[in-house]
Amino acid sequence: VIRVKNLYKIYQVGTNKVYALNGVDFTMYKGEFCAIVGPSGSGKSTLLNMLAGLEKPTKGEIIIAGKHMERMDENQLVQFRRENVGFIFQSYNLLKTLNAVENVALPLSFRGVPKKIRNAKAEEYLKLVGLEKQMKHMANAMSGGQQQRVGIARALVVNPKIIFADEPTGNLDSKTTMEVLKLMQRIVREQQQTLVMVTHDNYIAGFADRQFHIVDGKILKIEEKKKETEEAGNDALKRGEES
Ligand code: ATP
Ligand code: MG
Repeated sequence: VIRVKNLYKIYQVGTNKVYALNGVDFTMYKGEFCAIVGPSGSGKSTLLNMLAGLEKPTKGEIIIAGKHMERMDENQLVQFRRENVGFIFQSYNLLKTLNAVENVALPLSFRGVPKKIRNAKAEEYLKLVGLEKQMKHMANAMSGGQQQRVGIARALVVNPKIIFADEPTGNLDSKTTMEVLKLMQRIVREQQQTLVMVTHDNYIAGFADRQFHIVDGKILKIEEKKKETEEAGNDALKRGEES
């Protein structure tokens, strides 16, 4: 679904050139949970912004669902994002004075979907993320984990091919982090979407099907998930539920 070829992003800072991305190549597939993992300043956000069409590459190609992003103008990029892409944010970015259903229905209302249909869809996706009992709760009356699940439902409600998440568990405690990671794993598998998650944390990245290790703007290695990480996650989750 996502093919990146020889990608560069060079920032001019005074008289210096900063190679935020320094020749990146990879492919990400349908139904895959991919993590971009690396230290602060390694180029993770730059890469995600490029994939999401929020910034233009200096050089190279990004082909998503068969279309060349680097050849699109601003209007085409906006259209492309609307049709293909969902976002999950570290800070959830919910509207605090709307309830869960209203928040999830928001992207549908931007698309002109009638109210009855968009509320039904929103409820369907809130059930998917396990919030059937909190449908009418105001966003600011929910826990961090619940808010992030609303955020996930909102990203998914338009059924995007690709979901981008920049440090989605950055504000969550470890048990809730685990639950949200498991939820994202399950949904990507069930709905055959592609999830691209950015994190600086190797343990969190271990929940992805593949980890793309980025250092100084280069992908150093691509690592497949180890089975133990998944089982460790399940065990930790069980322990959390019992205690
Ligand atoms: P973090 O984990 O701290 O969010 P990151 O991996 O997301 O880090 P990026 O934000 O992608 O890192 O930055 C990569 C490099 O590019 C850094 O050296 C940064 O200083 C530089 N950079 C990013 N954006 C700009 C910009 N707009 N102008 C100049 N330099 C930039
Ligand atoms: Mg960043």
